[in-house]
Amino acid sequence: MLNHFIGGRRVALGPAFGVHDPVTGAETGQAREADEEVVRQAVAAAGQAAPGWAALPAAERAGWMRRLADGIEARFDDLVAAEIADTGKPLEQTRTLDVPRGAANFRAFAEIAAQRPEEAFHLPGVLSYTVRRPLGVVAVVVPWNLPFLLMTWKLAPALMAGNTVVVKPSENTPRSASLFAEICADAGLPGGVVNVIFGYGASGRLLVEHPGIGGVTFTGSTSTGTAIMRSVSERVRPVSFELGGKNAGLVFADSDLGRAVEGCVRSVFTNGGQVCLCTERLYVERPVFEEFCARLAARAREVEPQPMISAEHRDKVLGAYGLARAEGAKFLTGGGVPEFGDARDGGYFVEPTVVTGLPESSAFNREEIFGPVCHVAPFDGEDEAVALANDSDYGLAATVWTTNLDRAHRVAQRIEAGLVWVNTWYLRDLRTPFGGVKLSGIGREGGTRSLDFYSEPTTITIKLEHPDAR
Ligand code: NAD
Repeated sequence: MLNHFIGGRRVALGPAFGVHDPVTGAETGQAREADEEVVRQAVAAAGQAAPGWAALPAAERAGWMRRLADGIEARFDDLVAAEIADTGKPLEQTRTLDVPRGAANFRAFAEIAAQRPEEAFHLPGVLSYTVRRPLGVVAVVVPWNLPFLLMTWKLAPALMAGNTVVVKPSENTPRSASLFAEICADAGLPGGVVNVIFGYGASGRLLVEHPGIGGVTFTGSTSTGTAIMRSVSERVRPVSFELGGKNAGLVFADSDLGRAVEGCVRSVFTNGGQVCLCTERLYVERPVFEEFCARLAARAREVEPQPMISAEHRDKVLGAYGLARAEGAKFLTGGGVPEFGDARDGGYFVEPTVVTGLPESSAFNREEIFGPVCHVAPFDGEDEAVALANDSDYGLAATVWTTNLDRAHRVAQRIEAGLVWVNTWYLRDLRTPFGGVKLSGIGREGGTRSLDFYSEPTTITIKLEHPDAR
Protein backbone atom coordinates (compact mmCIF):
# COMPACT_ATOMS: atom_id res chain seq x y z
CA MET A 1 0.00 0.00 0.00
CA LEU A 2 1.39 3.39 -0.98
CA ASN A 3 0.72 5.91 1.79
CA HIS A 4 0.95 9.68 1.45
CA PHE A 5 4.21 11.38 2.45
CA ILE A 6 3.52 14.46 4.57
CA GLY A 7 5.92 16.41 6.79
CA GLY A 8 8.57 13.73 6.30
CA ARG A 9 6.30 10.88 7.45
CA ARG A 10 4.02 8.33 5.82
CA VAL A 11 0.33 9.05 6.43
CA ALA A 12 -2.15 6.17 6.05
CA LEU A 13 -5.37 8.13 5.59
CA GLY A 14 -8.08 7.81 2.94
CA PRO A 15 -9.57 4.87 1.06
CA ALA A 16 -7.41 2.55 -1.04
CA PHE A 17 -7.53 2.42 -4.82
CA GLY A 18 -6.01 -0.11 -7.21
CA VAL A 19 -3.02 0.40 -9.50
CA HIS A 20 -2.88 -1.79 -12.61
CA ASP A 21 -0.19 -3.19 -14.86
CA PRO A 22 -1.00 -1.91 -18.36
CA VAL A 23 0.79 -4.92 -19.87
CA THR A 24 -1.58 -7.51 -18.36
CA GLY A 25 -4.40 -5.49 -16.81
CA ALA A 26 -3.72 -7.14 -13.43
CA GLU A 27 -3.96 -5.11 -10.21
CA THR A 28 -0.41 -4.84 -8.92
CA GLY A 29 -0.78 -2.57 -5.93
CA GLN A 30 -2.84 -0.03 -4.08
CA ALA A 31 -2.48 3.57 -2.99
CA ARG A 32 -4.44 5.85 -0.67
CA GLU A 33 -6.79 8.44 -2.05
CA ALA A 34 -6.28 11.92 -0.56
CA ASP A 35 -9.39 13.50 0.93
CA GLU A 36 -9.84 16.98 2.37
CA GLU A 37 -8.05 16.10 5.62
CA VAL A 38 -5.01 14.69 3.80
CA VAL A 39 -4.79 17.78 1.60
CA ARG A 40 -5.13 20.00 4.67
CA GLN A 41 -2.27 18.18 6.42
CA ALA A 42 -0.05 18.24 3.34
CA VAL A 43 -0.53 21.95 2.65
CA ALA A 44 -0.03 22.73 6.35
CA ALA A 45 3.22 20.74 6.48
CA ALA A 46 4.49 22.47 3.33
CA GLY A 47 3.45 25.84 4.75
CA GLN A 48 5.34 25.22 7.99
CA ALA A 49 8.48 24.20 6.15
CA ALA A 50 8.31 27.10 3.68
CA PRO A 51 9.97 29.95 5.64
CA GLY A 52 12.98 27.86 6.70
CA TRP A 53 13.51 26.48 3.20
CA ALA A 54 13.16 29.91 1.59
CA ALA A 55 15.64 31.39 4.06
CA LEU A 56 18.41 28.95 3.10
CA PRO A 57 21.15 30.49 0.97
CA ALA A 58 20.58 29.46 -2.68
CA ALA A 59 23.91 27.62 -2.69
CA GLU A 60 22.62 25.39 0.10
CA ARG A 61 19.44 24.61 -1.77
CA ALA A 62 21.60 23.82 -4.81
CA GLY A 63 23.49 21.37 -2.58
CA TRP A 64 20.18 19.69 -1.75
CA MET A 65 19.32 19.49 -5.44
CA ARG A 66 22.59 17.63 -6.08
CA ARG A 67 21.98 15.30 -3.13
CA LEU A 68 18.52 14.48 -4.49
CA ALA A 69 20.09 13.77 -7.91
CA ASP A 70 22.61 11.49 -6.17
CA GLY A 71 19.72 9.78 -4.38
CA ILE A 72 17.93 9.21 -7.69
CA GLU A 73 21.06 7.70 -9.19
CA ALA A 74 21.55 5.48 -6.14
CA ARG A 75 18.00 4.12 -6.52
CA PHE A 76 18.21 4.01 -10.31
CA ASP A 77 17.13 0.38 -10.73
CA ASP A 78 14.26 0.73 -8.24
CA LEU A 79 12.98 3.80 -10.07
CA VAL A 80 13.23 2.02 -13.42
CA ALA A 81 11.25 -0.91 -12.01
CA ALA A 82 8.63 1.41 -10.47
CA GLU A 83 8.14 3.32 -13.69
CA ILE A 84 7.85 0.14 -15.77
CA ALA A 85 5.39 -1.42 -13.28
CA ASP A 86 3.07 1.58 -13.56
CA THR A 87 3.36 2.34 -17.30
CA GLY A 88 4.56 -0.81 -19.10
CA LYS A 89 7.23 1.30 -20.85
CA PRO A 90 10.16 -0.41 -22.56
CA LEU A 91 13.18 -0.95 -20.31
CA GLU A 92 15.50 0.81 -22.72
CA GLN A 93 13.46 4.02 -22.76
CA THR A 94 13.11 4.05 -18.99
CA ARG A 95 16.85 3.52 -18.48
CA THR A 96 17.95 6.09 -21.03
CA LEU A 97 15.28 8.78 -20.76
CA ASP A 98 12.80 8.75 -17.87
CA VAL A 99 15.03 8.10 -14.86
CA PRO A 100 18.27 9.79 -16.02
CA ARG A 101 16.27 12.91 -16.89
CA GLY A 102 14.94 12.95 -13.33
CA ALA A 103 18.46 13.27 -11.95
CA ALA A 104 19.44 15.69 -14.75
CA ASN A 105 16.52 17.96 -13.87
CA PHE A 106 17.85 18.48 -10.33
CA ARG A 107 21.43 19.03 -11.47
CA ALA A 108 20.39 21.41 -14.26
CA PHE A 109 18.36 23.72 -12.05
CA ALA A 110 21.10 23.87 -9.41
CA GLU A 111 23.40 25.18 -12.15
CA ILE A 112 20.88 27.45 -13.85
CA ALA A 113 20.04 29.18 -10.57
CA ALA A 114 23.71 29.76 -9.75
CA GLN A 115 24.35 31.45 -13.10
CA ARG A 116 21.29 33.64 -13.09
CA PRO A 117 21.96 37.39 -13.00
CA GLU A 118 19.73 39.78 -11.05
CA GLU A 119 18.05 42.62 -12.91
CA ALA A 120 19.22 46.16 -12.13
CA PHE A 121 18.70 49.47 -13.96
CA HIS A 122 20.68 52.56 -13.17
CA LEU A 123 19.76 56.07 -14.29
CA PRO A 124 21.36 59.23 -12.89
CA GLY A 125 20.01 59.47 -9.37
CA VAL A 126 17.86 56.34 -9.59
CA LEU A 127 18.69 52.71 -8.95
CA SER A 128 16.03 50.07 -9.58
CA TYR A 129 16.62 46.42 -8.95
CA THR A 130 14.57 43.33 -8.31
CA VAL A 131 14.62 40.67 -5.67
CA ARG A 132 12.68 37.46 -6.13
CA ARG A 133 10.63 35.66 -3.52
CA PRO A 134 9.24 32.15 -3.77
CA LEU A 135 5.49 31.64 -4.26
CA GLY A 136 5.29 29.67 -0.99
CA VAL A 137 3.59 26.28 -1.30
CA VAL A 138 3.40 25.10 -4.91
CA ALA A 139 0.87 22.47 -6.01
CA VAL A 140 2.48 20.14 -8.56
CA VAL A 141 -0.08 18.10 -10.50
CA VAL A 142 1.33 15.74 -13.11
CA PRO A 143 0.15 13.09 -15.60
CA TRP A 144 0.95 9.43 -16.22
CA ASN A 145 2.80 9.43 -19.54
CA LEU A 146 6.29 10.41 -18.34
CA PRO A 147 5.57 10.39 -14.60
CA PHE A 148 9.05 10.73 -13.11
CA LEU A 149 10.52 12.95 -15.82
CA LEU A 150 7.63 15.43 -15.70
CA MET A 151 7.34 15.47 -11.91
CA THR A 152 11.03 16.26 -11.42
CA TRP A 153 10.97 18.80 -14.28
CA LYS A 154 8.64 20.87 -12.08
CA LEU A 155 9.88 19.92 -8.63
CA ALA A 156 13.51 20.84 -9.22
CA PRO A 157 13.00 24.51 -10.19
CA ALA A 158 10.15 24.94 -7.68
CA LEU A 159 12.41 23.77 -4.84
CA MET A 160 15.46 25.59 -6.16
CA ALA A 161 13.48 28.85 -6.21
CA GLY A 162 12.75 28.39 -2.50
CA ASN A 163 9.23 26.92 -2.55
CA THR A 164 7.96 23.88 -0.73
CA VAL A 165 5.71 21.53 -2.69
CA VAL A 166 2.74 19.22 -2.52
CA VAL A 167 2.87 16.80 -5.44
CA LYS A 168 -0.02 14.77 -6.78
CA PRO A 169 1.03 12.22 -9.37
CA SER A 170 -1.53 10.59 -11.64
CA GLU A 171 -3.74 7.92 -10.10
CA ASN A 172 -2.31 5.54 -12.72
CA THR A 173 1.35 6.08 -11.82
CA PRO A 174 1.98 6.64 -8.09
CA ARG A 175 5.07 4.44 -7.65
CA SER A 176 7.96 6.66 -8.80
CA ALA A 177 6.60 9.60 -6.77
CA SER A 178 6.37 7.36 -3.71
CA LEU A 179 9.96 6.22 -4.22
CA PHE A 180 11.05 9.82 -4.64
CA ALA A 181 9.50 10.57 -1.23
CA GLU A 182 11.70 7.81 0.19
CA ILE A 183 14.75 9.34 -1.52
CA CYS A 184 13.94 12.72 0.08
CA ALA A 185 13.59 11.11 3.52
CA ASP A 186 16.80 9.09 3.12
CA ALA A 187 18.70 12.20 2.04
CA GLY A 188 17.52 13.94 5.22
CA LEU A 189 15.62 16.67 3.38
CA PRO A 190 13.77 18.73 6.04
CA GLY A 191 10.25 17.37 6.61
CA GLY A 192 7.51 19.23 4.76
CA VAL A 193 9.70 20.55 1.92
CA VAL A 194 8.43 17.77 -0.37
CA ASN A 195 5.01 16.25 0.29
CA VAL A 196 3.40 13.61 -1.92
CA ILE A 197 -0.29 12.78 -1.93
CA PHE A 198 -2.08 10.22 -4.07
CA GLY A 199 -5.51 10.12 -5.62
CA TYR A 200 -7.69 10.82 -8.63
CA GLY A 201 -8.63 14.17 -10.14
CA ALA A 202 -10.87 14.93 -7.15
CA SER A 203 -7.80 14.92 -4.86
CA GLY A 204 -5.99 17.18 -7.32
CA ARG A 205 -8.90 19.55 -7.29
CA LEU A 206 -8.91 19.74 -3.47
CA LEU A 207 -5.21 20.53 -3.64
CA VAL A 208 -5.33 23.31 -6.23
CA GLU A 209 -8.36 24.87 -4.52
CA HIS A 210 -6.69 24.97 -1.11
CA PRO A 211 -6.21 28.58 0.05
CA GLY A 212 -2.69 27.79 1.30
CA ILE A 213 -1.42 27.17 -2.23
CA GLY A 214 0.70 29.99 -3.71
CA GLY A 215 0.80 28.70 -7.29
CA VAL A 216 -0.11 25.72 -9.42
CA THR A 217 2.08 23.97 -11.94
CA PHE A 218 0.25 21.44 -14.03
CA THR A 219 1.01 19.09 -16.89
CA GLY A 220 -1.90 17.19 -18.35
CA SER A 221 -4.88 17.46 -20.63
CA THR A 222 -6.34 20.72 -21.84
CA SER A 223 -9.74 19.92 -20.30
CA THR A 224 -8.19 19.46 -16.85
CA GLY A 225 -6.17 22.65 -17.39
CA THR A 226 -9.35 24.64 -17.95
CA ALA A 227 -10.93 23.08 -14.83
CA ILE A 228 -7.87 24.05 -12.75
CA MET A 229 -7.94 27.55 -14.17
CA ARG A 230 -11.52 27.92 -12.95
CA SER A 231 -10.53 26.49 -9.56
CA VAL A 232 -7.77 29.02 -8.96
CA SER A 233 -9.41 32.00 -10.63
CA GLU A 234 -11.08 33.35 -7.50
CA ARG A 235 -7.80 33.62 -5.67
CA VAL A 236 -5.85 34.76 -8.79
CA ARG A 237 -3.02 32.29 -8.29
CA PRO A 238 -0.28 31.97 -10.91
CA VAL A 239 -0.54 28.87 -13.09
CA SER A 240 1.90 27.22 -15.43
CA PHE A 241 0.18 24.82 -17.81
CA GLU A 242 1.78 22.30 -20.13
CA LEU A 243 -1.25 20.84 -21.90
CA GLY A 244 -2.21 18.74 -24.89
CA GLY A 245 -1.01 18.89 -28.48
CA LYS A 246 -2.06 17.97 -31.99
CA ASN A 247 1.39 18.30 -33.42
CA ALA A 248 2.16 18.59 -37.12
CA GLY A 249 5.11 17.18 -39.02
CA LEU A 250 5.99 18.73 -42.41
CA VAL A 251 7.97 16.55 -44.81
CA PHE A 252 9.27 18.44 -47.85
CA ALA A 253 10.22 16.73 -51.11
CA ASP A 254 13.78 17.98 -50.62
CA SER A 255 14.14 16.15 -47.30
CA ASP A 256 16.40 13.17 -46.76
CA LEU A 257 13.44 10.82 -46.99
CA GLY A 258 15.01 7.92 -45.12
CA ARG A 259 15.88 10.20 -42.23
CA ALA A 260 12.42 11.78 -42.33
CA VAL A 261 10.70 8.39 -42.21
CA GLU A 262 12.82 7.24 -39.26
CA GLY A 263 12.30 10.56 -37.49
CA CYS A 264 8.54 10.33 -37.98
CA VAL A 265 8.48 6.73 -36.73
CA ARG A 266 10.03 8.05 -33.52
CA SER A 267 7.85 11.14 -33.27
CA VAL A 268 4.62 9.21 -33.88
CA PHE A 269 5.21 5.98 -31.96
CA THR A 270 7.53 6.72 -29.03
CA ASN A 271 5.95 5.70 -25.72
CA GLY A 272 2.97 4.35 -27.69
CA GLY A 273 2.29 7.89 -28.92
CA GLN A 274 1.65 8.92 -25.33
CA VAL A 275 3.94 11.94 -25.33
CA CYS A 276 2.47 15.43 -25.58
CA LEU A 277 5.12 16.17 -28.24
CA CYS A 278 4.19 13.24 -30.49
CA THR A 279 3.19 13.93 -34.09
CA GLU A 280 -0.43 13.07 -34.95
CA ARG A 281 -0.73 15.08 -38.19
CA LEU A 282 1.81 14.47 -40.94
CA TYR A 283 1.82 16.55 -44.12
CA VAL A 284 4.01 15.39 -46.98
CA GLU A 285 4.86 17.29 -50.17
CA ARG A 286 2.98 15.71 -53.07
CA PRO A 287 5.91 14.43 -55.19
CA VAL A 288 7.07 12.15 -52.33
CA PHE A 289 3.67 11.50 -50.69
CA GLU A 290 3.09 7.97 -52.02
CA GLU A 291 6.64 6.82 -51.34
CA PHE A 292 6.67 8.34 -47.86
CA CYS A 293 3.33 6.69 -46.96
CA ALA A 294 4.52 3.28 -48.15
CA ARG A 295 7.79 3.54 -46.23
CA LEU A 296 6.16 4.87 -43.05
CA ALA A 297 3.51 2.14 -43.07
CA ALA A 298 6.17 -0.54 -43.63
CA ARG A 299 8.19 0.75 -40.67
CA ALA A 300 5.07 1.12 -38.51
CA ARG A 301 4.38 -2.60 -39.00
CA GLU A 302 7.75 -3.31 -37.40
CA VAL A 303 7.07 -1.12 -34.35
CA GLU A 304 6.52 -3.15 -31.20
CA PRO A 305 3.09 -2.28 -29.77
CA GLN A 306 3.20 -0.60 -26.37
CA PRO A 307 0.32 -0.66 -23.89
CA MET A 308 -1.91 2.34 -23.36
CA ILE A 309 -1.94 3.43 -19.72
CA SER A 310 -5.44 2.16 -18.87
CA ALA A 311 -8.43 0.31 -20.28
CA GLU A 312 -10.22 3.66 -20.44
CA HIS A 313 -7.45 5.26 -22.47
CA ARG A 314 -7.19 2.22 -24.78
CA ASP A 315 -10.92 2.54 -25.44
CA LYS A 316 -10.48 6.24 -26.24
CA VAL A 317 -7.75 5.46 -28.79
CA LEU A 318 -9.81 2.63 -30.29
CA GLY A 319 -12.73 5.06 -30.45
CA ALA A 320 -10.58 7.34 -32.61
CA TYR A 321 -9.71 4.40 -34.89
CA GLY A 322 -13.44 3.65 -35.16
CA LEU A 323 -14.21 7.28 -35.97
CA ALA A 324 -11.60 7.26 -38.75
CA ARG A 325 -13.14 4.08 -40.16
CA ALA A 326 -16.65 5.56 -40.02
CA GLU A 327 -15.47 8.67 -41.83
CA GLY A 328 -13.96 6.62 -44.64
CA ALA A 329 -10.26 6.82 -43.80
CA LYS A 330 -7.84 4.53 -45.56
CA PHE A 331 -5.81 2.49 -43.04
CA LEU A 332 -2.26 2.06 -44.33
CA THR A 333 -1.55 -0.15 -41.34
CA GLY A 334 -3.01 -1.03 -37.93
CA GLY A 335 -6.41 0.01 -36.67
CA GLY A 336 -7.00 -2.84 -34.26
CA VAL A 337 -5.79 -4.64 -31.16
CA PRO A 338 -2.75 -6.94 -31.42
CA GLU A 339 -3.09 -10.56 -30.32
CA PHE A 340 -0.19 -12.10 -28.43
CA GLY A 341 -1.63 -15.40 -27.19
CA ASP A 342 -0.27 -14.73 -23.70
CA ALA A 343 -0.95 -12.59 -20.59
CA ARG A 344 -0.54 -9.42 -22.66
CA ASP A 345 -3.95 -10.11 -24.20
CA GLY A 346 -5.38 -8.86 -20.87
CA GLY A 347 -3.38 -5.62 -21.25
CA TYR A 348 -4.23 -2.35 -22.91
CA PHE A 349 -2.48 -2.65 -26.29
CA VAL A 350 -3.52 -1.10 -29.58
CA GLU A 351 -1.84 -1.46 -32.96
CA PRO A 352 0.49 1.25 -34.29
CA THR A 353 -1.66 2.87 -36.94
CA VAL A 354 -1.25 5.10 -39.99
CA VAL A 355 -4.30 6.48 -41.80
CA THR A 356 -4.92 8.82 -44.68
CA GLY A 357 -7.83 10.30 -46.62
CA LEU A 358 -9.65 12.25 -43.89
CA PRO A 359 -10.59 15.93 -44.24
CA GLU A 360 -8.82 18.45 -42.03
CA SER A 361 -12.17 19.17 -40.38
CA SER A 362 -12.48 15.60 -39.10
CA ALA A 363 -12.41 15.27 -35.29
CA PHE A 364 -9.64 12.73 -35.87
CA ASN A 365 -7.47 15.52 -37.23
CA ARG A 366 -8.52 18.12 -34.70
CA GLU A 367 -8.56 16.40 -31.29
CA GLU A 368 -5.57 14.95 -29.48
CA ILE A 369 -5.75 11.13 -29.53
CA PHE A 370 -2.60 10.39 -27.49
CA GLY A 371 -1.97 6.99 -29.06
CA PRO A 372 0.40 5.38 -31.60
CA VAL A 373 -1.35 6.90 -34.58
CA CYS A 374 -1.05 9.58 -37.24
CA HIS A 375 -2.94 10.85 -40.24
CA VAL A 376 -0.91 11.59 -43.39
CA ALA A 377 -2.03 14.11 -46.02
CA PRO A 378 -0.33 15.65 -49.07
CA PHE A 379 0.47 19.34 -49.53
CA ASP A 380 1.66 21.56 -52.37
CA GLY A 381 4.31 24.14 -51.48
CA GLU A 382 5.51 25.93 -48.41
CA ASP A 383 2.53 28.23 -47.88
CA GLU A 384 0.06 25.38 -47.80
CA ALA A 385 2.30 23.38 -45.48
CA VAL A 386 2.46 26.24 -42.98
CA ALA A 387 -1.28 26.90 -43.25
CA LEU A 388 -2.07 23.23 -42.55
CA ALA A 389 0.32 23.07 -39.60
CA ASN A 390 -1.23 26.21 -38.10
CA ASP A 391 -4.83 25.17 -38.70
CA SER A 392 -5.21 23.73 -35.21
CA ASP A 393 -6.59 24.78 -31.85
CA TYR A 394 -3.35 23.48 -30.34
CA GLY A 395 0.19 24.77 -30.69
CA LEU A 396 2.69 22.72 -28.74
CA ALA A 397 5.29 21.33 -31.15
CA ALA A 398 6.03 20.76 -34.83
CA THR A 399 8.72 19.07 -36.89
CA VAL A 400 10.08 20.19 -40.27
CA TRP A 401 11.95 17.79 -42.54
CA THR A 402 13.97 19.50 -45.30
CA THR A 403 17.57 19.81 -46.49
CA ASN A 404 17.04 23.40 -47.65
CA LEU A 405 18.50 25.64 -44.95
CA ASP A 406 16.59 28.77 -45.98
CA ARG A 407 13.33 26.87 -46.03
CA ALA A 408 14.05 25.30 -42.65
CA HIS A 409 14.34 28.71 -40.99
CA ARG A 410 11.54 30.31 -43.01
CA VAL A 411 9.03 27.58 -42.24
CA ALA A 412 10.07 27.06 -38.61
CA GLN A 413 9.61 30.77 -37.88
CA ARG A 414 6.08 30.81 -39.33
CA ILE A 415 4.74 27.91 -37.28
CA GLU A 416 2.44 28.78 -34.38
CA ALA A 417 3.87 26.45 -31.77
CA GLY A 418 6.05 26.69 -28.68
CA LEU A 419 8.63 24.26 -30.09
CA VAL A 420 9.75 23.54 -33.65
CA TRP A 421 12.30 20.87 -34.51
CA VAL A 422 14.13 20.69 -37.84
CA ASN A 423 15.30 17.24 -39.00
CA THR A 424 14.92 15.88 -35.48
CA TRP A 425 12.40 15.44 -32.70
CA TYR A 426 12.46 15.69 -28.90
CA LEU A 427 15.98 17.03 -28.70
CA ARG A 428 16.03 19.18 -25.58
CA ASP A 429 18.36 21.62 -23.91
CA LEU A 430 16.90 22.12 -20.44
CA ARG A 431 17.88 25.81 -20.51
CA THR A 432 15.53 26.62 -23.41
CA PRO A 433 11.87 27.68 -23.05
CA PHE A 434 9.41 24.80 -23.11
CA GLY A 435 5.63 25.06 -23.49
CA GLY A 436 2.86 25.68 -25.96
CA VAL A 437 0.52 28.29 -27.42
CA LYS A 438 -3.28 28.23 -27.94
CA LEU A 439 -4.89 25.25 -26.15
CA SER A 440 -1.46 23.75 -25.47
CA GLY A 441 -0.69 25.83 -22.43
CA ILE A 442 0.13 29.01 -20.60
CA GLY A 443 3.63 30.20 -19.86
CA ARG A 444 7.00 28.61 -20.48
CA GLU A 445 9.17 26.54 -18.22
CA GLY A 446 12.81 25.67 -18.86
CA GLY A 447 15.99 27.40 -17.76
CA THR A 448 15.53 30.72 -16.01
CA ARG A 449 11.89 30.83 -17.15
CA SER A 450 11.08 28.07 -14.68
CA LEU A 451 12.75 30.02 -11.90
CA ASP A 452 10.78 33.09 -13.02
CA PHE A 453 7.48 31.23 -12.73
CA TYR A 454 8.28 29.77 -9.31
CA SER A 455 9.09 33.17 -7.84
CA GLU A 456 7.69 36.71 -7.85
CA PRO A 457 9.85 39.80 -8.34
CA THR A 458 9.71 42.81 -6.08
CA THR A 459 11.10 45.93 -7.72
CA ILE A 460 13.03 48.16 -5.36
CA THR A 461 13.70 51.71 -6.52
CA ILE A 462 16.06 54.03 -4.67
CA LYS A 463 16.45 57.74 -5.17
CA LEU A 464 20.13 58.57 -5.06
CA GLU A 465 21.40 62.00 -4.20
CA HIS A 466 23.25 62.99 -7.34
CA PRO A 467 24.12 66.37 -8.85
CA ASP A 468 22.48 65.36 -12.19
CA ALA A 469 19.36 63.90 -10.56
CA ARG A 470 16.03 65.14 -11.86
P1 NAD B 1 -5.20 14.55 -17.02
O1 NAD B 1 -5.45 15.98 -17.28
O2 NAD B 1 -6.34 13.61 -17.09
O3 NAD B 1 -4.56 14.35 -15.58
C1 NAD B 1 -3.36 14.99 -15.18
C2 NAD B 1 -3.35 15.12 -13.67
O4 NAD B 1 -4.37 16.00 -13.26
C3 NAD B 1 -3.58 13.81 -12.94
O5 NAD B 1 -2.75 13.78 -11.80
C4 NAD B 1 -5.05 13.94 -12.53
O6 NAD B 1 -5.40 13.16 -11.41
C5 NAD B 1 -5.16 15.42 -12.22
N1 NAD B 1 -6.50 16.02 -12.29
C6 NAD B 1 -7.57 15.62 -13.02
N2 NAD B 1 -8.61 16.47 -12.84
C7 NAD B 1 -8.18 17.43 -11.98
C8 NAD B 1 -8.79 18.62 -11.43
N3 NAD B 1 -10.04 18.99 -11.73
N4 NAD B 1 -8.05 19.39 -10.60
C9 NAD B 1 -6.76 19.07 -10.31
N5 NAD B 1 -6.16 17.96 -10.79
C10 NAD B 1 -6.85 17.15 -11.63
O7 NAD B 1 -4.05 14.12 -18.03
P2 NAD B 1 -3.46 12.66 -18.26
O8 NAD B 1 -4.48 11.85 -18.99
O9 NAD B 1 -2.91 12.15 -16.97
O10 NAD B 1 -2.22 12.99 -19.21
C11 NAD B 1 -2.29 13.05 -20.60
C12 NAD B 1 -2.40 14.49 -21.06
O11 NAD B 1 -1.27 15.24 -20.61
C13 NAD B 1 -2.39 14.65 -22.56
O12 NAD B 1 -3.37 15.59 -22.94
C14 NAD B 1 -1.00 15.21 -22.87
O13 NAD B 1 -0.90 15.94 -24.04
C15 NAD B 1 -0.76 16.04 -21.67
N6 NAD B 1 0.67 16.26 -21.50
C16 NAD B 1 1.20 17.51 -21.80
C17 NAD B 1 2.56 17.73 -21.68
C18 NAD B 1 3.18 19.06 -22.03
O14 NAD B 1 4.33 19.28 -21.67
N7 NAD B 1 2.49 19.96 -22.71
C19 NAD B 1 3.39 16.69 -21.24
C20 NAD B 1 2.83 15.47 -20.96
C21 NAD B 1 1.47 15.27 -21.08
